[in-house]
Amino acid sequence: MRFDVLAEACYFTSHAMPLHIPFDNSYARLPGRFYAYCEPTNVRSPRLLALNTSLAELLGLDSGALAEPDGVAVLAGNQVPDGAASLALAYAGHQFGHFVPQLGDGRAILMGEVIGRDGKRRDLQWKGSGRTPYSRGGDGRAALGPVLREYVLSEAMQALGVPTTRALAALTTGEDVMREGRLPGAIVLRVAQSHLRVGTFQFFASRGDVEAVKLLADYAISRHYPEAADTAHPYRALLEGVIRRQATLVAAWVSLGFIHGVMNTDNTTISGETIDYGPCAFMDAFRSQAVFSAIDRNGRYAYGNQPHMAAWNLARFAETLLPLLGDSEGEAVAIAHAALENFGGVFETAHLEVMSSKLGLVTAVEGDRELVHGLFGQLAEASADFTLAFRTLAEAATDTPDEAPFLALFGTARGVHEWLARWRSRLAMEALAPTERAAGMRAVNPLYIPRNHQVEAVIQAGLKGDFGPFATLNEVLARPFDEQPGRERFALAPTPEERVVQTFCGT
Ligand code: AMP
Ligand code: MG
Repeated sequence: MRFDVLAEACYFTSHAMPLHIPFDNSYARLPGRFYAYCEPTNVRSPRLLALNTSLAELLGLDSGALAEPDGVAVLAGNQVPDGAASLALAYAGHQFGHFVPQLGDGRAILMGEVIGRDGKRRDLQWKGSGRTPYSRGGDGRAALGPVLREYVLSEAMQALGVPTTRALAALTTGEDVMREGRLPGAIVLRVAQSHLRVGTFQFFASRGDVEAVKLLADYAISRHYPEAADTAHPYRALLEGVIRRQATLVAAWVSLGFIHGVMNTDNTTISGETIDYGPCAFMDAFRSQAVFSAIDRNGRYAYGNQPHMAAWNLARFAETLLPLLGDSEGEAVAIAHAALENFGGVFETAHLEVMSSKLGLVTAVEGDRELVHGLFGQLAEASADFTLAFRTLAEAATDTPDEAPFLALFGTARGVHEWLARWRSRLAMEALAPTERAAGMRAVNPLYIPRNHQVEAVIQAGLKGDFGPFATLNEVLARPFDEQPGRERFALAPTPEERVVQTFCGT
């Protein structure tokens, strides 16, 4: 077997110890109907494309050992490490509104769980590691493009401060997969606070297995909402907790112009992390109904529909919990309704809070919501670049204000001048010094986001065997709020020729 480790991507000084992963596999302690044991399928010649050394460190893993041939064999699934769980999770899900009673990890295998240096438990998962009992017609494999996308996008989201699954490593397998044509096969090592989904609850609820729903709810509480256990109604608190985290998550997405693209219930986590970077996109030109996903033909998951769809998914979650929520069905339904009604309020509050900070406001006053929506109106009218609009607004907030970069995004539109005047009079209501305000704005309005055209360029280079652009983009996106001299081009909106109008999940 030949191992081909890309040395320039990772430089290790420590001399590697043999790889030891201190697993503590709590999910595997649940009954057998929650998963299926299976092992990854060997791949011909794994090559490490990227190893996330800071994440490895957080997990308490030795990066040096991971980059050695034995470590790469583990990352590639050619070797199952001692103590691994090695199992595929069962789940169901509503896909674009249609219920599928059995999905499950069809191309992912849980290696196991580790407790990180921060005390947090996380799953380590092989994705693209071969068929499992839940593969249905699929090959259990992943192509290089989607693996690079997931690595770049998930780590960018992390750097942007959004709860997300992460990527520990990306590898090519040395084997091709058949998609629209022959493509290089790849594996991503996904790390998540867990892989529990609304669809996991649906799997058991749809089978009438209330005992399993209860076990799963207890498990979710102990893993993600331990504070719920101490309340008078733990399952109600679980539902409220998931609603709160999902509402806050979607507010964060919306504040960054992120469009998930495939918000099915099997892609809605109980932990409140973003999962599934298939057909997602960060929009450039603002449009409230923007859709990039090629599979989202009716715009179900359009930018502006995301809060609504999250609420829909949470209603499906609440349904699975009904037997646990009250003594009678009537009582349970009333409790679920009350919890779900909170979604709108939590979302609106979180959204207004984050948008206000993007505008440089540090207090909240009547009329802020209208000010925020006023800017959305201007952005839409001018099809202005969402990310640059907020970033350049910081330049207009300094003690030597420069409105030109902001105004340049709006072309000949006139309304934006009036909006700027309203914004200025609102700023005048606060005592904050301009330099402080501008710094605060730059700390929440990224300069660099994973723009579709740049992600696409990384994939195209990777398909030609050049992973330099992949490494560079990861580096840039690791510090999204900091100006990085010499990397100005990464901040630019796409030219009309560069614009990507559709994204594909490429499964
Ligand atoms: P996703 O689109 O990644 O959310 O996947 C939806 C379902 O299809 C999940 O059950 C996946 O595990 C499964 N799936 C996607 N791609 C493949 C594949 N290449 N082989 C087997 N199962 C797959
Ligand atoms: Mg998925």
